[in-house]
Amino acid sequence: MSNAQPVRGTHDLLFDDMLRHRHVEERAFAVAKRYGYGEIATPIFEFTEVFTRTLGVTSDVVTKEMYTFETKGGESITLRPEGTAGVARAFISGGLAQQTPLKFFYRGPMFRHERPQKGRQRQFHQIGIELLGVAGPQADVESIAIGHHILTELDLTGAITLEINSLGDPESRAAYRDVLVNFLSARKEKLSAESLDRLERNPMRILDSKDPGDREAVAEAPRLSEYLNETSRGFFDKVKDGLAAHGIAYKVSPALVRGLDYYCHTAFEFTTDALGAQGTVMAGGRYDGLIGQMGGPATPGIGWAAGIERLSMLLKAAPEAPRPIALIPVSEAEEPNVFALAAKLRKAGFIVDVGYSGNMKKRMNRADKIKAVAAIIIGGDEARDSTATLRDFVSGAQKTISQNELEAALAAYKP
Ligand code: ATP
Ligand code: MG
Repeated sequence: MSNAQPVRGTHDLLFDDMLRHRHVEERAFAVAKRYGYGEIATPIFEFTEVFTRTLGVTSDVVTKEMYTFETKGGESITLRPEGTAGVARAFISGGLAQQTPLKFFYRGPMFRHERPQKGRQRQFHQIGIELLGVAGPQADVESIAIGHHILTELDLTGAITLEINSLGDPESRAAYRDVLVNFLSARKEKLSAESLDRLERNPMRILDSKDPGDREAVAEAPRLSEYLNETSRGFFDKVKDGLAAHGIAYKVSPALVRGLDYYCHTAFEFTTDALGAQGTVMAGGRYDGLIGQMGGPATPGIGWAAGIERLSMLLKAAPEAPRPIALIPVSEAEEPNVFALAAKLRKAGFIVDVGYSGNMKKRMNRADKIKAVAAIIIGGDEARDSTATLRDFVSGAQKTISQNELEAALAAYKP
């Protein structure tokens, strides 16, 4: 190793980062629980096929962004770039089809080899939900409502817009696919080399492309919404009515699409202007064809994933760590008394930081640095009499009290 640097696109999460991170995760899970979701943790790596099958061999994630390696046994393994594929795999390999509907919440690191920039890392973290086994639009509404509820709990809805669209059912998509191929075939000069290839293999993927030429060509293309059959339109209307009933504002974005065949009906994104180019904080949709395509029993599904780093950056107030109590022996002689007292206070639920090194001034400075609410100072006299000097940093008061009275005197500082 030449230098002790983190790998490009990865970050250490130190105290404050981690507080934000856990705050997002925990608030999200607390909300999801209220909708009946339980937590699932799938492995961080899977057989590569799990992702190539679900994300499609032509997707950006699969063609460019995956961390894939071969094991000693010659198997191809990939660090998960997203969460849905692993959950779908777990559903199939665990034989869970009889247990639907199933509601999963997950959280954890994801890995994508893309160009690092603000809001875009190579190891990042997501929270997400998957609802398996419900075909009706109520599931779409509830899934979006959970996302909205979480953003509300995090006090972020002001900065965020909900965009929704319908991708229609397979019949509508097939009808639109032909129209799209015709339209784009007449504009091949605008398309990127990659999209020319997609035009043959998977034309709907072009709708997802970030290439400027592709986007220009697609901007003028007929909209999928014009080709929705009656079933698809009825489904979309129910989703919109459901959102209205929940009091959730949304914008219909005809350009919001998913290029993969197993997606259908509702696609949605929560976006913000506050993060520059990385504006999508939460993205989801219905994927009724996915589990079947992976070789499992045909099972409807819907879910979303949100980037924890992007949500953390949007948090207005950083959550605060609970403040400790500094317990300070004046010299080594008081340490036995201090150890016993620290153990007692911690058992009672207090956060106690014991100052071991340096002179009194250094130890008091540390108490200040760790934002202690109070200091308990034990010198020779105090140790002998089982008393303590209690300095309350919040009120500024200082007094000598019996060590037995400390718990009561500090009760307000128990986290
Ligand atoms: P983008 O268009 O920003 O590349 P995406 O369509 O690849 O996003 P999804 O696969 O839908 O993203 O992932 C859902 C969410 O995960 C995103 O909305 C974003 O918040 C987050 N996310 C995706 N990729 C990254 C990354 N490389 N770094 C940080 N967060 C990410
Ligand atoms: Mg991406």
